[in-house]
Amino acid sequence: MQSLWNDREAAGYQSDLAQRVYTSRLLGCDKSLVLYGGGNTSVKIRERNLVGDDEDILYVKGSGWDLEFIEEAGFAPVRVAHLLKLAQLKALSDPQIVNELVTHMTRAAAPAPSVEAILHALLPHKYVDHTHSDAVLAVTNTSDGEQRITEIYGDKVVIIPYIMPGFDLARLCAELFSKRAGKNTIGMVLLKHGVFSFGASARESYERMIELVDLAERYLERHGAWHLRHAANGVSKAARRVEIATLRQQISRSAGNPLILATHQDARTASFVRRADIATVSQRGPATPDHVIRTKRVPMLGRDVDGYAQSYRTYFEQYAPRAKEPKTMHDPAPRVVLDAKLGMCAAGRTAKDAAIAASLYAHTMDVIERATLLGGYQALSADAIFDVEYWDLEQAKLGKAGGPPLFAGEVALVTGAASGIGKACVDALLARGAAVIGLDIDGRIESLHQRQDFLGIRCDVTSQPETVSALENTVRAYGGLDILVLNAGIFPGGTAIAALDDEAWRKVMSVNLDANLMLLRECHPLLRLAPRGGRVAVIGSKNVPAPGPGAAAYSASKAALTQIARVAALEWGADNIRVNTLHPDAVFDTGIWSDEVLAARAAHYGLTVEQYRKKNVLKTEVTSRDVAELAAEMCGPLFAKTTGAQLPVDGGNERVI
Ligand code: ZN
Repeated sequence: MQSLWNDREAAGYQSDLAQRVYTSRLLGCDKSLVLYGGGNTSVKIRERNLVGDDEDILYVKGSGWDLEFIEEAGFAPVRVAHLLKLAQLKALSDPQIVNELVTHMTRAAAPAPSVEAILHALLPHKYVDHTHSDAVLAVTNTSDGEQRITEIYGDKVVIIPYIMPGFDLARLCAELFSKRAGKNTIGMVLLKHGVFSFGASARESYERMIELVDLAERYLERHGAWHLRHAANGVSKAARRVEIATLRQQISRSAGNPLILATHQDARTASFVRRADIATVSQRGPATPDHVIRTKRVPMLGRDVDGYAQSYRTYFEQYAPRAKEPKTMHDPAPRVVLDAKLGMCAAGRTAKDAAIAASLYAHTMDVIERATLLGGYQALSADAIFDVEYWDLEQAKLGKAGGPPLFAGEVALVTGAASGIGKACVDALLARGAAVIGLDIDGRIESLHQRQDFLGIRCDVTSQPETVSALENTVRAYGGLDILVLNAGIFPGGTAIAALDDEAWRKVMSVNLDANLMLLRECHPLLRLAPRGGRVAVIGSKNVPAPGPGAAAYSASKAALTQIARVAALEWGADNIRVNTLHPDAVFDTGIWSDEVLAARAAHYGLTVEQYRKKNVLKTEVTSRDVAELAAEMCGPLFAKTTGAQLPVDGGNERVI
């Protein structure tokens, strides 16, 4: 491991706190050191307050900040004198610590300080850095970890046995540090937890961290435990969408709410899940409490976090009963499932949470494999993990409670999603917390949104192979399908029946009708596995109840589609799938309606464009967003007892009313 310190870059960070920002970012950009808000850093600065007193302030990483992107505002300023007094107490509960930290800051708007702040305050150095380095964990998480750490570092570090993070750990560190630290001490190794370094300058503390981690890496290399051989290929991408969706349904049931389930099948994962000893090494617990603590955002159950499944059926037989254990405080659902055929499936309430769980586990795989090469992986004991779970719960209670979004943990697929009503449906569903797949024949769909909970796939919905492949990708990305919005359709220019040729007719039918029938058929096995029941919203047309001349093919296709939706509502009710249809009219903010076309149509009726836009009973304009919001709501609880319905969204049409 190499220092990333760069004199020129560092010169851009002048103050003590700015220097703290710079080296924190250097640590943060190496994911083998800290992951997703993990690790913490601090600097002690003497400041004069408003009444003229000088006081030492500990600027420690605030919660909710990631070291990689931290700014000065991400450090919480806490009065050191108070922290040192607290450290004299015999005991302090975690909620008390949090309360004391928050009430002794010098800036009200600062984020909550890391709970490891007392430990940072107790260390008699200006700068303190703390990481959960993969390499150090690979060494400490072995049966003779302490001996190996001594061998690697000699008197460079003070070794702290494992106890759970909190007040007792801070006191133990302070006690052992004052007894054992000498002139060569540059850090502290917390067994099965991580490593601290410290120094008089940001650079010194950072480079000592790099030195300590580098020594661990070299040790692993000397013992043939650094370079990991990975399989040449990933897990086979055979069609497994129904299998994965079934797994997601069971995990969601166990969790008590729908979860996103992301499947990872890369070569690195493949080599891990195919290990002969997977059943034992994957069940020994997490590598560091930090990987469980972050369960504030990813409520992983410590002992289930490494959930291994030869097949998921045996997995649930083996683990589901634990849900009844009274001391199980979180939901009993695993957040990571390993399977030789599926790869790694990571679950979370959002696509981001599932990605965090996957990333934590990807690093855990490295730690497990290296520790195994050293002689055997040993993680935290079941008791220690239980403590952490409890600790986590205490923390969670202090967090702000806000209800989850309407479609949290659910997956929606929208066709014709690159523009117009389809694009608006994507936005309406994302806004309600769903992970969304957008299909469109227009390649721009792939870059519609750059976010974890959106996947744009170029797809011709009239092609069965392309549609099936898109569904496979949907399920690999998010685990299943809860909501289907059938929007893709074409509206050819007005043609009288007398002039309508077979080819034009068939083209409209193939996109507006045949493709939707095929989509319904292919999605049905997935929709019936939706944890809260499947929902289909069909974008029909005012032309169904009130067709217009020159639109025979379009009107007939939408009428037939509406009839299919009604039959689907009848057939699928027993599967708890609701199918409802919307009939929009005169939605002009779509790609089809250019200013010129709009002006021409308005002139045709002898109206201004403004009058033409609002040519309805309510004299109101209907936008893509209006249609999309209704489509989304029809998939929500307001319409929980409605199926087979047709709802106009047209501002009121005299011929329909
Ligand atoms: Zn830590």
